[in-house]
Amino acid sequence: MQLDYEGVYVHTPFCMQKCLYCDFASYAGLGASVQERYVTDLCREIRLRGQSVRSGATIFFGGGTPTVLTTAQLTRIVTALKQQGVWRQPAEATMEANPGTIDLAKLQALRQLGFDRLSLGVQSLNDTELKTVGRIHTAAQALEAIRLAQQAGFTRINADVITGLPGQTAASLQSTLTRLVDTGLTHLSVYSLILEPGTPLEKLVAAGTVTLPDEDLEAELYQTAVEFLQKTTLQRYEVSNYAVPGQESLHNLLYWHYRPYLGLGAAAVSFNGQDRFNAVRTVAAYCEAVEQAAVPAPVTPGITTRAGVKDTAAAATVAAVATTPAYPWGQVETLAEQDHLEEYLFLGLRTTAGLNLKEAWERFHCDVWVRYGQELQTFVDQGCLVYEPGRRLFLTSKGLRFGNRIFEVFID
Ligand code: SF4
Repeated sequence: MQLDYEGVYVHTPFCMQKCLYCDFASYAGLGASVQERYVTDLCREIRLRGQSVRSGATIFFGGGTPTVLTTAQLTRIVTALKQQGVWRQPAEATMEANPGTIDLAKLQALRQLGFDRLSLGVQSLNDTELKTVGRIHTAAQALEAIRLAQQAGFTRINADVITGLPGQTAASLQSTLTRLVDTGLTHLSVYSLILEPGTPLEKLVAAGTVTLPDEDLEAELYQTAVEFLQKTTLQRYEVSNYAVPGQESLHNLLYWHYRPYLGLGAAAVSFNGQDRFNAVRTVAAYCEAVEQAAVPAPVTPGITTRAGVKDTAAAATVAAVATTPAYPWGQVETLAEQDHLEEYLFLGLRTTAGLNLKEAWERFHCDVWVRYGQELQTFVDQGCLVYEPGRRLFLTSKGLRFGNRIFEVFID
């Protein structure tokens, strides 16, 4: 069933410099004219697709680095969203930012545009660690960015932190977390470094130029973060996320609750409760497709897949134009009922509140325990999972560490 969008994600595929571990859809050095063309086409997409968004829908500007766009460009995008009725008294409006790309004037402009939450890619407050993975900012710049954000009036601030960085120790991680918590920020996302295939970091590690923490140190780093944050006002509410109660990311909760969201821009993903829409990944393919798009036409059936559809290249875009007129800059992925159920279950279990079993029944007519109980019992016995009959199923702190093994139970 198609539902109104409850959140809106806007992608900016530009960065000042590519971090060595990054395989996100973001590109460095494309130039100001490409950026300007992208903003124009993004505004066009907003006009073409900005329907069916609920009043109060959350807004999230992510990337890449949205703050590499000028204030004038960001204003144009926000204005298009407002004119189209997409930005309508959002319950939350988040801007992702790289500490090396903001100053007080920009932060004040963001507040004036209506952003009330800032998510900073801090990653570490150790300059050597930052430098080793190619981040453009220093620890001092990151702390200054938080201070300036507070001065500009942001009360809801998140910092992303990475564990498992080359050279990182439990002491350096603890120092990063301590200093971040001391700033008074309201949210922390703590992710493990993933060595993605094809990234420069993977090559450096393969060549022996860079060494990553071994398994024991990785476990120690994880434990350091969990134990330290337990003693703070930030409470864990998802595998990787901690917030002062009431300051959780409403936008990200939409994803974990499997609610519909609209994705705008290159590489953005949309989900309307029925189908998933995967936009082309490259800036050129996206711009060409949006510029060619005429008025919206009826949606033709998408491609039925069980696995995720990969981003399409420019050539595939041309084919997509012919087959999916209402979504010419990507692919429509029609999900089977089992796909919906699997995603709902494993996304919901990522939250510390866990799966609401009554809701699982109402949305999917699935009695989770009848269907999966035999396999899940093993994890209950191991102290990884708690089953409250008729109410909820949730991971313990031990389970949150090994969640992926449990999520496999739901994959058919
Ligand atoms: S700033 Fe973020 S999106 Fe950009 S290259 Fe670094 S990790 Fe990737």
